[in-house]
Amino acid sequence: MLQKIDVINNGYIALVETWGSDERIIEAARMSTDKGFLGWGEGTDCFRNSHSPDKCKRGTPGCRVKHGDEVLLSRLYNPPDDGPPHTSPFEMAGAVIEVQAPIFVFREWHRHRTQSYNELSARYTVLPDLFYLPSVERLMMGKQSKTNKQSSEAATYTQAEIADIQQQLWDAMQKSRDVYELLIGKDLARELARIVMPVGQISRMRASANLLNWMRFLTLRQNVGAQWEIRQYANVLGQILTENFPRSMALFNENPL
Ligand SMILES: Cc1cc2nc3c(=O)[nH]c(=O)nc-3n(C[C@H](O)[C@H](O)[C@H](O)COP(=O)(O)OP(=O)(O)OC[C@H]3O[C@@H](n4cnc5c(N)ncnc54)[C@H](O)[C@@H]3O)c2cc1C
Repeated sequence: MLQKIDVINNGYIALVETWGSDERIIEAARMSTDKGFLGWGEGTDCFRNSHSPDKCKRGTPGCRVKHGDEVLLSRLYNPPDDGPPHTSPFEMAGAVIEVQAPIFVFREWHRHRTQSYNELSARYTVLPDLFYLPSVERLMMGKQSKTNKQSSEAATYTQAEIADIQQQLWDAMQKSRDVYELLIGKDLARELARIVMPVGQISRMRASANLLNWMRFLTLRQNVGAQWEIRQYANVLGQILTENFPRSMALFNENPL
């Protein structure tokens, strides 16, 4: 049973599975030296044989306390010479998620070509009777921006105006649904009946990507320039990835790619 996290009205994200880990990323990076994962934290290893590693302390004469592998991870992501990040080890981990969202969010999402997708087909199955209806709060920041042609900004609608906008949206979507069901009832093929549905229609998909490509997706879609709705999904996804790849994602959260 997937654990669904609500995102926007009628939308959710659920983690299906992850693969790899922060440790596997280190192992992959160490293929160059064939040393594998050595451990996190300071003093995980000591090169001096005369006493045990837990007795080692930085600055004690004769002791060589080895850096933890977080240093290597950090250097992969943020090379000390300001060079480009060493990205391929971050492709050794990844996640599959299930997403329920309006079609207009998927239109934006599917531009990301480095993910793999499977979406429910409205040719095979009747679309779920679910629409995205923006909340009052969303509509109150939903006025067409004057400075950015593809953005919205704070509005000064009255409560009555907001209620009317919501009603108009609902009526239009409901009208589409009614025609859709009428056409299905007349045995029109689902692939034709679906053409009346608006982009507020809810759909569902699974998406898979490696961690590097999820990071690239988050960089673009957590940014304030991205539409508010897809940003909500990106933010929840960012939390899921941070729980599963805490060390790599801490580096990303501090300094997006
Ligand atoms: C705020 C915002 C506004 C946008 N507005 C518009 C818009 O008005 N109209 C519109 O059409 N799109 C728009 N987009 C979509 C945008 O142009 C990209 O298609 C989308 O963000 C995916 O980015 P990407 O190509 O980097 O991602 P991915 O497809 O995931 O690719 C990741 C990286 O892989 C490399 N790559 C992948 N495939 C190729 C390839 N075939 N050739 C070369 N390199 C490749 C590139 O380095 C790329 O950056 C917008 C996106 C954002 C975030």
